Amino acid sequence: MKITIPEFCLVVLVGAPGSGKSVFANAHFAADEIIVPMIGNDAPELAEDQSRLLQELIEVRLRHRQLTVVDAPNLRRQHRAMLVQVAHQTYAQAVSVVLTSGRQSHLLEESLEHIGKEGFQEVHVLSSQEELAGVTIERRRLRTDRRDETGPFDIIGDVHGCVDELIALLAKLGYAVEIVGTGEQRRVISRTPAGRRAVFVGDLVDRGPASPDVLRIVMHMIREGQALAVPGNHDAKLLRWLKGSKVKMTHGIAETISQLEKEPESFRHEVRTFIENLVSNLWLDGGRLAVAHAGIKEEMLGRASALIREFCLYGETSGETDEFGLPIRYHWAAEYTGETTIVYGHTPVPEAEWLNNTLCVDTGCVFGGRLTALRWPEREIVSVPAARAYAAAIRPFAHPPLRPGFSP
Ligand code: MN
Repeated sequence: MKITIPEFCLVVLVGAPGSGKSVFANAHFAADEIIVPMIGNDAPELAEDQSRLLQELIEVRLRHRQLTVVDAPNLRRQHRAMLVQVAHQTYAQAVSVVLTSGRQSHLLEESLEHIGKEGFQEVHVLSSQEELAGVTIERRRLRTDRRDETGPFDIIGDVHGCVDELIALLAKLGYAVEIVGTGEQRRVISRTPAGRRAVFVGDLVDRGPASPDVLRIVMHMIREGQALAVPGNHDAKLLRWLKGSKVKMTHGIAETISQLEKEPESFRHEVRTFIENLVSNLWLDGGRLAVAHAGIKEEMLGRASALIREFCLYGETSGETDEFGLPIRYHWAAEYTGETTIVYGHTPVPEAEWLNNTLCVDTGCVFGGRLTALRWPEREIVSVPAARAYAAAIRPFAHPPLRPGFSP
């Protein structure tokens, strides 16, 4: 039997005394990865202090992105809830391995079903001595951790269906891309400058004249190993529609849908699979670069969770709307202090300008601005003008406001 766990996560071992947890932990994890908390029958104040210290220790390890295994002799529900909470706060996945064999296994039966509902992303059960003896643990890399991809890259801002500008920008960057044929036969031919790859910051669709062809180019380039991409909020909304959910026909999706309805069913299916498989952020080039649609906080880099996905798609919203009826977002980049360069889109700005080691490459092409790319590691900004404004901007191009009380 093989158990696959994320290379970086919190592993909580659950089992009755005598179920072999410690033997299991020592057989499969390094000594410095295992934490054995003292949960005994101490006086309440002592127990409380110890629990707090333990929580801090786990938190510190997870903040430093260290896999951590908790092997507690008598882990109760409330302790597991605390551990899941710590993992949640540090954007680590929580995984439990439940050992149900052994002399006192009856002590566990009550909670086995409950463990599945406690917030662990994965629950692995080893139910016999044979399974326990034969199991191997494999660590898988998080899909957001692409530090081994060293580039060079050309990171391209929100395209929003502007296919002519995309082809023009790619040409300016040295890529030769064309679309030939019609109907089922329509396909992309592309060639990249030696060794370079495009990275799309998302929002490939909506508002513009040719979202299907933009998707066609990006999907083709990814298949050919010529590009990477993260999803934008518009792509995520399109995915909901493709999966049959009701979505509001606002902010340009109506155009995309009528364009997609002229495409074969197989194409829509391909688009659905493509968006479904995108990961919310990419941590690249030895950790020196990250790409996320609406940006990302330093403590989220190379991790994956529902909260991170939310931030990467929409940014940090205050829950209120502005005078244009759009959600108020905070200017996370103004507060960014990390060493990893972050390239993002989402909020159209008049000019791509560096701020605290971050760069917004959404220069509002679909609104008649420019389509912009960053060449990495050259840090050269390349752009082409929009042929025309395909949609009217709802609010002026600008970075979002600062968080109340924050002064840079
Ligand atoms: Mn956008």
